[in-house]
Amino acid sequence: MPTPGEVSLAHRGVLFLDEMPEFRRSALEALRQPLEDCTVRISRAAASLSFPADFQLIAAMNPCPCGFLGHPDRPCSCTPVQVARYRARISGPLLDRIDLHLWIDPVDASGIFNRGQGASSHEVRARVEAAREIQLARGFINARIPQESMERICRLDTASRGMLVNAVKRAALSMRALGRVIKVARTIADLEGSPSIRDVHVAEALQFRPGMVED
Ligand SMILES: [Zn+2]
Repeated sequence: MPTPGEVSLAHRGVLFLDEMPEFRRSALEALRQPLEDCTVRISRAAASLSFPADFQLIAAMNPCPCGFLGHPDRPCSCTPVQVARYRARISGPLLDRIDLHLWIDPVDASGIFNRGQGASSHEVRARVEAAREIQLARGFINARIPQESMERICRLDTASRGMLVNAVKRAALSMRALGRVIKVARTIADLEGSPSIRDVHVAEALQFRPGMVED
């Protein structure tokens, strides 16, 4: 009898995959369907069952097998072929379903005790809660806006549209990713308390797509 797997155990929570390229390709590709539908279907000879799988996927990976590509002080010992092979372990369709891609620079040792003037977790929490309230008042959190409500909730001005058309033309953005970028732009606008999505919000959302800024 099928039993709930990791994606169902993470239902309404976070599924964190550390060292993502180390997972079996088949396991990673199996994430695609639940990431779209928020349920997972398991078919066996005896039975076909659906389990809930509404989770937030967070995944980490190194820039290359040795981990030092782009490091300011330490040399990378990988060949370009090794780097390409390592990155190719995560398929384009799976990358497409991840909304926010972030390149994290190594911590500068001299800055460990000098934390600067960043916002406190308390301030960020208040901002996130306010943004979620705005979204719930519209009926959906942004990640779950149904297609038929996109135009009403995520209206785009001419400049924003032009920016997205350009990104699609340059093949930096797939059609699937397009909808996700618009929702991220909606979220950035909500975090600012801006009722409309402006081109600055779209520009920021595009920065979170793979291949837009890193390397
Ligand atoms: Zn390396």
